[in-house]
Amino acid sequence: MKKIIAALAALAALFLLFALSPYPEFKEFRNKERSVRFYDRNGILLQATAVDNGLRREWTDLKKIPKKVKKAFLKAEDRRFYFHPGIDPISAAAAAIQNASAKRTVRGASTITMQLVKMASPGGQRSMVKKIGEALNALRIEARLSKNKILELYLNSVPFGQNCEGVTSAARTFFGKELADLTDGEIACLAVIPRRPGGYNPIHNPEACASRAAEVFGRDYNSLLKTAKGAGAFSYPFEMPHYIERVKRQIKAGKKKAPFEVRLSASLEIQKTAERYIKEAAKLARGSRIANSALLLIDNKDNSVLAWIGNSDWFDYSHSGQIDGVLSRIQPGSSMKPFLYGLALDAKAQEGRPLFTPATVLPDIPQEFGGQKIYIPENFNNRFNGPVRFRIALASSLNVPAVYILNKLGVDAYLSQLEKLGFESLKSGGRSADLGLALGAGEVSLYELVNAFSVWTRDGKDAKGKQIYSKDAARLICSILSDKDARALGFGYNQVFQTDYPSIFKTGTSNQYQNITALGSTKRYTVGVWMGNFSGQTVMGKTGSSLPAWVAKNTLDFLELKNPKHEPFPAPENWVKEKICPLSGMLAGKDCKNFVFEYVKKDEPLETCDWHKSEGGERVTVYPPEYQRWLLSENIEAQVDHTSVPLTITSPKNNSVFYTRAASALTQLEAISVEAIGGTEDSAQVYYDGVLLFEIQRPFVFKLPTEKGKRSCKVVCGGQSAQVEFEVK
Ligand SMILES: [Zn+2]
Repeated sequence: MKKIIAALAALAALFLLFALSPYPEFKEFRNKERSVRFYDRNGILLQATAVDNGLRREWTDLKKIPKKVKKAFLKAEDRRFYFHPGIDPISAAAAAIQNASAKRTVRGASTITMQLVKMASPGGQRSMVKKIGEALNALRIEARLSKNKILELYLNSVPFGQNCEGVTSAARTFFGKELADLTDGEIACLAVIPRRPGGYNPIHNPEACASRAAEVFGRDYNSLLKTAKGAGAFSYPFEMPHYIERVKRQIKAGKKKAPFEVRLSASLEIQKTAERYIKEAAKLARGSRIANSALLLIDNKDNSVLAWIGNSDWFDYSHSGQIDGVLSRIQPGSSMKPFLYGLALDAKAQEGRPLFTPATVLPDIPQEFGGQKIYIPENFNNRFNGPVRFRIALASSLNVPAVYILNKLGVDAYLSQLEKLGFESLKSGGRSADLGLALGAGEVSLYELVNAFSVWTRDGKDAKGKQIYSKDAARLICSILSDKDARALGFGYNQVFQTDYPSIFKTGTSNQYQNITALGSTKRYTVGVWMGNFSGQTVMGKTGSSLPAWVAKNTLDFLELKNPKHEPFPAPENWVKEKICPLSGMLAGKDCKNFVFEYVKKDEPLETCDWHKSEGGERVTVYPPEYQRWLLSENIEAQVDHTSVPLTITSPKNNSVFYTRAASALTQLEAISVEAIGGTEDSAQVYYDGVLLFEIQRPFVFKLPTEKGKRSCKVVCGGQSAQVEFEVK
């Protein structure tokens, strides 16, 4: 007796050891990739992702699987599941008797646990030895998992054919429903499928499926047949593909196990509306060589994504439709300018006075900037507007004033501000764009642009509440970017971005016309639209102010016109409106022709306009000397106050380098233009390499020959002199 007990104990120990030994196949099976359900903010299914070869294999926790579903599957597959240890001798015996009398297999004895074993190591004819091995493996599973965990794994893994596994995907694939919405008849039909997935497939064999379900559940055949005939292959939605790809990448990068279900902040309704506008714009753009377009719409509350269109057509293989235009690097052009102008409004001169205000006059004239590398910006339409107020320069997107501002503030200061705004892309390559940054050279993504642009209507704060610009700078930018009069110089009065609610807009076109963009923002939303070509091909004839702006405006209309209550953008707190001379930007005086209301800093002493004067009863306009050449080229009759500045050579810059094309270059075309301003007299002497060349009357604008070598030019006027060195190569 003792021996028997000892032998049994040894056997039990041996078995325990085996049961707890590693079972890698099963571990791998449990960790198989699962489909991920992506829902929009309203619970609408956007995608249930396919795993290998288009198969859907979703997961639902057991506690969320309806009781009647669990019951039905237990009844169909393993009635004594909760009472056997993984193998069921009673069922096995019954099956053996039945099979023997029928002389063929009419009944399987597989428990749910044994079915899991087979799923974990599928394949091939099963010999007696293998069957015993399977039975032992079933015991190993039972030693590892609770009954509920085994049932959960089974219900989420059992194959149904029709390219789906698990009850959740089966409910969707056959009946287009969530598990919770299944009827009793549908549950009965589904529960019989795993026994013979081909034979009981309700789509192909509704009669067989209904008849089997009637048999197992004792239900009415005719009504089950009706249910089975109602099954159809569900066509899985494929919404927001670019965005979901990005979320999937983020999940992967996060190293955490992929969730089975993700609820996104996006709204399918808004997405569909935006897609419609993008498609319409793409249609309108035919002939402009625009093959790709992208849109990003965010909620300013937390910058969560509401709509994300990576390209107008994911399936446009000939134009790389699967590239995500929201994340691709593009040249933003002028859409970057507000970030620079905002920084300018926060810059301080001496004694804390503002360096720039919306009234500051900026010179929109041909100018040279930079030190080592001379930079000569041009305007979009190649016209120069002379003195232009800050407000107009930004709203009408003039180029020279933007470079002028960046030159004053410094490229490094601007780059560091752009970094605070989240422009990661500029960390590499931003520096080399140099003063071109003012015009949006340096590539960024639409994603970065939209997120950064949302600071304006949020009083200068980023989405995390960090103050990037002062509250007043942001409010002034809103005032400027919503000012249709100020935009007129650049865009005319017939602008696409005229809205019935407070909104700001900025558009951009890249240097080579590869990219056209528009950014729009209201108190609650920010949208960005890009159109162009992933291939880098140039766009013809459309600029950022047209189609992208049209899409951006319509998308905001869709959201904002539903809400009839709109409050105006708040006014800056430490600024007041004053009557300003539109030409000089100074306090309007009695001789000014007209005035505009513009924000000036509270308690800041203002100088009265001295450009407009009366001399002997006649009103005259006197410009600062830097405008003399522009006045000349524009044929504007006006006086210039030469004596207001010391004699200076404004062009060329000291230490400039010129490159001649011809070997002996002395052509008029290649002559070097020189301009000097200031001085006390009306005439000046010009010295070239120390030799007096000629005497000149005002304006001091003349040309020098391009002779190779190091050269110098000196101008002498009254008691003052100015000199520059330059080299001709
Ligand atoms: Zn004036």
